Amino acid sequence: MRRSPPRLVIVGGGFTGATVAVQAARRSPIALDIVVIEPSAELGRGLPYQGHDPDHRVNGPIASHSIDPLDTGHVQRWLDKSDELQKDPAAQCSFGTFLRRSDYGRYLHESVLEFSKKNESGSTIRHHRDRVRQIKLESEHVVLELEQGHHLLGDSVVLAFGNPASRLPPMLKHVSKSPIVVHAPLVGSALHQLCERLAPGSEVAVMGTSLTAADVISTLLRQTSGVGITAFSRRGLIPHRQRPPDPLAPSSLPKTWLVDRINGEVPSYLFPDEGSPFTVRHLCRAMRKRIKMLTNQGLPWQQGFDEARDVVWQFWPLLTAQEKQRFLRRLRVWYDVARFRLPPQTAESIDKAVAAGRLAFCAQALQGVQVLEGQRLKLTFQKKGKQVEQEFDALINCTGFDLGGPVDQKTLAGKLVQAGILVKDESGIGFSVDKTCRVIHSNGQASSRIRLVGPATAGVFGDSLGAMFIAVQAHRMLPSLFNDLGQAR
Ligand SMILES: Cc1cc2nc3c(=O)[nH]c(=O)nc-3n(C[C@H](O)[C@H](O)[C@H](O)COP(=O)(O)OP(=O)(O)OC[C@H]3O[C@@H](n4cnc5c(N)ncnc54)[C@H](O)[C@@H]3O)c2cc1C
Repeated sequence: MRRSPPRLVIVGGGFTGATVAVQAARRSPIALDIVVIEPSAELGRGLPYQGHDPDHRVNGPIASHSIDPLDTGHVQRWLDKSDELQKDPAAQCSFGTFLRRSDYGRYLHESVLEFSKKNESGSTIRHHRDRVRQIKLESEHVVLELEQGHHLLGDSVVLAFGNPASRLPPMLKHVSKSPIVVHAPLVGSALHQLCERLAPGSEVAVMGTSLTAADVISTLLRQTSGVGITAFSRRGLIPHRQRPPDPLAPSSLPKTWLVDRINGEVPSYLFPDEGSPFTVRHLCRAMRKRIKMLTNQGLPWQQGFDEARDVVWQFWPLLTAQEKQRFLRRLRVWYDVARFRLPPQTAESIDKAVAAGRLAFCAQALQGVQVLEGQRLKLTFQKKGKQVEQEFDALINCTGFDLGGPVDQKTLAGKLVQAGILVKDESGIGFSVDKTCRVIHSNGQASSRIRLVGPATAGVFGDSLGAMFIAVQAHRMLPSLFNDLGQAR
């Protein structure tokens, strides 16, 4: 009697769910029944690639953003068949091609459709529009309880639910309902509604100076006129620039260059001499020395930084829990501005606005917010040891995700923690998984049926936040998943 194909259920259909589905369908040795549970209408978009803002761009060149890391030319082939670049000529610049995130979202969605129609293993990929409420492990399978009341059985489950919700800093809680305070600017239309209301001469405060702030600033610059912008954070650090293309790079790289690079050997200079402890201090010194050596040769600093960044998943687990926490507390902000770089187009509009006196970046910590009569805000800052007050017409929160905060009990992750299926990892910014992404339950056992991929594993792998790292992480995880699914037949 012929048995039906084993079922792989993917929870969440953002970039992570999409790349897992496509890679599983292309590489599985047997046909699979792949079901992606995602409430949104299109797979692949998730939070970052669902908006329509023409100024929000993918922050890396397209070859590093393929849905399939073993086929890095896939985005370019999609572009060659479409008219995206005619519609958005600014995407191409001397640094490479940096697509609008909305167009990249379309690429991801259409790629899932492409491989749903035809793939190497003869698998099916189905999108089930719903949200998973709870997951239960039974001896023969996993039971997924869906919000619309259905239950679904799976032989294996990959959790791909992405990042936690944006953080609302405690001092903004009492003003979060005010129409002049936008607390999640990349979700919904609150930012665009605010732009429509801002008259020339208004002053806007942007809380945060990272990539989210850069997105918001580029929207404000395009959609308002004569509005002054002050972006602030404790240290006032702004993301660095992309590196210029390497003139010495071979003109055609093998399709697998990304996997080769990320799965390649850790450079020996990153390890201390035998007998010395492996510490964050050692890593910083080794990276600084290497970067200095390269820049002295006229090479960009990013080259030295990226050598370490690309293989961070291999050496981060070797640090002790204390060292990881030390890095997160003291060095992460410095690492992040070098790691999460500005798309060149965004960098250019920011530079112009600073030069024109329309935008300023400040190192100051927000201490309090007061709504004044006439719909203005009084913000109190700590700046160079002094308290200063400033008035604004609006405040936009760009402080990003609360990776290290308590897990929200109402989310699926929160319920899985309560059920003992997930546990926080030792660094506190994600959940515990083993090398093959099998979740570690509260009893210390690795699950044979549930895996977790993407940003929620950053505590274990150091960096599973960008598309290229997630795609290669999925690639590494799949052989063990195929093994389990083969046994499920
Ligand atoms: C604003 C922004 C811009 C970014 N830009 C870039 C970039 O340019 N390049 C880059 O490499 N990385 C970028 N990133 C990093 C980004 O995290 C990854 O690229 C990638 O999008 C992560 O995908 P994900 O699927 O894990 O998460 P998400 O995109 O958050 O998707 C998670 C999905 O899971 C679904 N979901 C959640 N809970 C459930 C549930 N219970 N049941 C069913 N479905 C559920 C959600 O609906 C959502 O669609 C950006 C991140 C942000 C926030």
